[in-house]
Formats: sequence, C-alpha cells, structure tokens
Amino acid sequence: MSIEQTLILIKPDGYARRLTGLTIDRLDASGLEMVAARMVSVSEKHAREHYKSLSDKPFFENLIKYIRGEFHGLKNHQVLAMVYRGENAIKAVRAIAGATNPEQAAAGTIRGSFGRITTAGQFENVIHASSDPGDAEREVKLWFKPEEILP
Ligand code: UDP
Ligand code: MG
Repeated sequence: MSIEQTLILIKPDGYARRLTGLTIDRLDASGLEMVAARMVSVSEKHAREHYKSLSDKPFFENLIKYIRGEFHGLKNHQVLAMVYRGENAIKAVRAIAGATNPEQAAAGTIRGSFGRITTAGQFENVIHASSDPGDAEREVKLWFKPEEILP
C-alpha cells in the first residue's frame, strides 16, 4: 500500500455529454481525495506533450484532435483536469475508468458504460487516467504547478 497521486482528465466527449458530475461522484465515492482541479484550454503543444509516448501510433493525429475537442465542437479546447490522492490511487482510478477500448471495458465502468468507438476508429472513452507511477508523476507535473495541489 502506498499513497499515490494520479491525473484524471474529463475528455471532450465526457464534457460535451455532461459526464463530469457523474465521474467526480464515482471518484469521490471511492474514498480517494480530490487535491487539485482546473479547467484547461488544451494547446496543440500541451496535447502532443501529454501523449508523446504514443506519437508513432497510427491514431496519434486523431487523438490530438480528440483531446483538443475538435470532434465535439469545443472551441475553447476545454478539459477538466484533476488530481486525486490516496492509497493505490492509480490502480483504483483505472478500475473506475475501465479498459482503454470501450468495447472491452467492463460493464459499470465509466468507459464500459459511456465510451464508444467512432466509425473513424477513434476510441472516445470519456476520461483519461494515469496508467502507472511514472506516468502519474509526469502527468501531474505537466498539468499542475506544485502550488495548485493541496499539500
Ligand atoms: N486510443 C485509440 N485507439 C487505440 C488506443 C488508444 O483511439 O487503439 C486512444 C484512447 O482515447 C486512449 C488514448 O488513445 O485513451 C491513450 O491511449 P493509451 O494506450 O494510453 O490508453 P489509456 O491509458 O488512456 O487507457
Ligand atoms: Mg495511457
């Protein structure tokens, strides 16, 4: 058991489909604590940095468009970014989110209930959640300044 911090993003499909409240409700109910939250207008540079480990994937350019709200008419490129903290927070939030592919995500998870695969093949899966301790540390730093996170 260790106390971890993990990054969650309400992606543009989640924002546009009004799934923000439902997501926060499930995260709060898990017993983890919200320690940072901020609406972010995602620049092209920021999006590419966030997903840099996927830059060689065939879906990368569409992923950048997706996370910047270009498929959901979000002119402000907005996502809600949050940090949750608690015991094994990274795995706990991944379990709430469900598998990356919405078709494989278990029923009752956020992605299993609300995700979809578009005809263009993009996985629209409502939220981002850091996948391991290395990613979590990098991502929390990328989205938040230290003083924006509760001590
Ligand atoms: N993605 C996709 N097609 C794929 C794999 C991933 O559209 O075959 C998208 C999906 O939105 C996913 C994001 O790229 O959430 C990041 O991929 P990753 O493998 O890091 O999955 P995650 O950590 O988000 O579960
Ligand atoms: Mg990932």
